[in-house]
Parts: sequence; C-alpha cells; structure tokens
Amino acid sequence: MAGKRDYYDILGISRNASAAEIKNAFRKLVLKYHPDLNKDKQTEEKMKELNEAYAVLSDPEKRRQYDTFGPEGFSQRFTQEDIFRNFNIDEIFRQMGIQFGFGDSDLFSMFNFGGGASRGMDIGSDILASVDVTLREAATGTNKKVFVSHVKQCETCGGAGGTGVQKCSRCNGTGQASTTRRTPFGVMKTITPCPDCGGSGKTVEKACRRCNGKGRVRAEDKIDFKVPPGVDTGTRLRVRGMGDYGKDRQGDLYVDINVLKDKTFTRRGNDLLIDLHVPFYVAALGGTAQVETLDGQEKVKIEPGTQTDAKLYLEDMGIPKFNGGGRGDEVIRVIVDTPKWMSAEQRSLIERFAELDSGKRPDGKKKFGIF
Ligand SMILES: [Zn+2]
Ligand SMILES: [Zn+2]
Repeated sequence: MAGKRDYYDILGISRNASAAEIKNAFRKLVLKYHPDLNKDKQTEEKMKELNEAYAVLSDPEKRRQYDTFGPEGFSQRFTQEDIFRNFNIDEIFRQMGIQFGFGDSDLFSMFNFGGGASRGMDIGSDILASVDVTLREAATGTNKKVFVSHVKQCETCGGAGGTGVQKCSRCNGTGQASTTRRTPFGVMKTITPCPDCGGSGKTVEKACRRCNGKGRVRAEDKIDFKVPPGVDTGTRLRVRGMGDYGKDRQGDLYVDINVLKDKTFTRRGNDLLIDLHVPFYVAALGGTAQVETLDGQEKVKIEPGTQTDAKLYLEDMGIPKFNGGGRGDEVIRVIVDTPKWMSAEQRSLIERFAELDSGKRPDGKKKFGIF
C-alpha cells in the first residue's frame, strides 16, 4: 500500500516513546476525535487510523516487527486481522475511562474486534456525556438533564434472558471460548465469547423476545442530575449507577461541563471581569457608577482623576469556589469614554479648558495643539 502513514506520526510521538507515552498520546487523541462530538467521515477515518497505530505500537511484539520492516514493509506483511488480533478496543477504552455516550454508532461497533465478552466479573461500562451551562448557572448551581443511550437490564425477563435457564454446557458457564493460533507474531491465544451462549454462560430454553435472550437491552433515558455551584468548563461530574448495566456493578455516567460565554462577564478562574465605561468628566471629577454583578446592580465610587484601565474590586462577588470556601472577586476595568460628538457649547468649554491647561505648563512650550 503506497503512502501508508507512519504510526508514530499518527500518534504524534517519537520512535523511542515509552509504553506510557504511547498510551497517553492515544488517549488524548481519542478524546479529541470523540465521535459524539465530531460525527463526520473524517473523524471515522481518523479513529480507524488511531486504532490501527495503537494496536501495533501498544503490543511490544507487533511494535518490534513494525520497527524492523517500516510502514510499507509492515503493511505488506501483515493483514488487518493480524494487526487487530488480541486487540480489544472496548476493554482498552474501559481501562482508560473512555466510553462513547450516545448510541452504538457504526463507529463504535467497528472498533469491536472480537470484544464484548464477559470475563469474570460483569461490570457495567461507564459512559460519558456533556452538557452546556450558562455562566450564571455555573455560579448558582442548577439541575440539568442529559439523554443517554445505555445498557439496562431487560424488564421483560428480569435479566434472565428467558425461561428454562441452564448453565451453558459448551463453556461450562464461563462464557468464554479460547482458541490458539499461529500468527506472524507468534502463537497467540484468543479469548472470544462462547458461540453457544454469546458470553452469558447460560442457555435458555425459550429466549426472551425483547432482549433476544441477552437479558439486557439498550435503552434511551433522560437522566436528571445536580450541577453544584462553581463548576467550570472541564469539570467532570459523576452520576453514580447511570452507566451501563452490569450484574456485579453498574457503570457510572460522567458528565463533562461546558460553561457558555456570557455577554456581560468574562470568567477568569473564580473571578469575574467586567468593563465599565465612564464619561471623561466623571473620570476627571470623580463620581459614582452602576455596575452589573451576579447579585444585581451595584453602585461603585469613581475617584477623581481615574484613568482608563484602572481596576476596581468587588470582593466576594465572583463565582463560588467549586469545593466551598467563599467566592472569587468581581474585577471592574474602567474605560474612560471620550465624546464622539459635542454641541457648540460643550466644544467651547473644552477649548477653554485646553487653553487653561496649556497655560499651566511651566516651560510655556506646547506639547499638544488643538484644531
Ligand atoms: Zn429479556
Ligand atoms: Zn457458553
């Protein structure tokens, strides 16, 4: 295959990257190209490429072969099946705490190379969703809902999968089948779900029609949860037990918070920044101004001789700290406004001011002139 991209380039790592560096790079890129956020053809291609690169570089033997033969030679020698053998992306994502939250897209099933078997414990996967909150909601806390598609116990059969349940005779209830194969990477043992029971370890006489004997179904649900005060973009909340169903443990739902931009305030940590426009005469003579805060309008004092960019602070008027312990400040930046239009009378007053001002210079020389 001509023009095969280098796996190291795909993951953006050096040729002597450690296993941990490879894993980190892969995880970062998977989150970046999260198919829930980027549902297009390009993302799909990108994810395929990432998986292939990681399948090879995360396996010491495959990596050694790749380093020996280079991209071209490697792709000539090994098939996709060789590359993805013993690579269970489902399991890798689970270990990395990554789960695509919405729907089983084509993309998701595409990653499944012989995965999905229950090994030992039946632990439900965690799932990930995201939610937008306004700056004000982030400050006060709020209740939100997300729609998720997650695996639930089948209500029709109560999770049994049907009637006349018995231990699967083929796998003796383990749910696993193992095969040993000779491959270009040496002898490999592959664990796959038992073909008779599909990994459940049980057979049923009469399978439940709703879940096809699996005992679980994928369902859309609306999940309500509380957003505490002080969250910021990047805050990840956990909603316990709202992930995928598992007999031994229910997975959790993680929700990533995205705080929307606000028209009035700019957030910097727990501080709120706001611009306050002040007419030049108030800045010169001093006075008061109304400024918006999260708790309504507040009157602030403008000192005589205030310059543009002067900062005023309203302490404890910012965003509450996420883990308690008070609030940030509101930081007001003064901007002195120069009039763009004047009446003849205003103009003559300022001209008079200018005359007096230049007359005050001790050296009598003019640095500024007016039209
Ligand atoms: Zn059922
Ligand atoms: Zn079986």
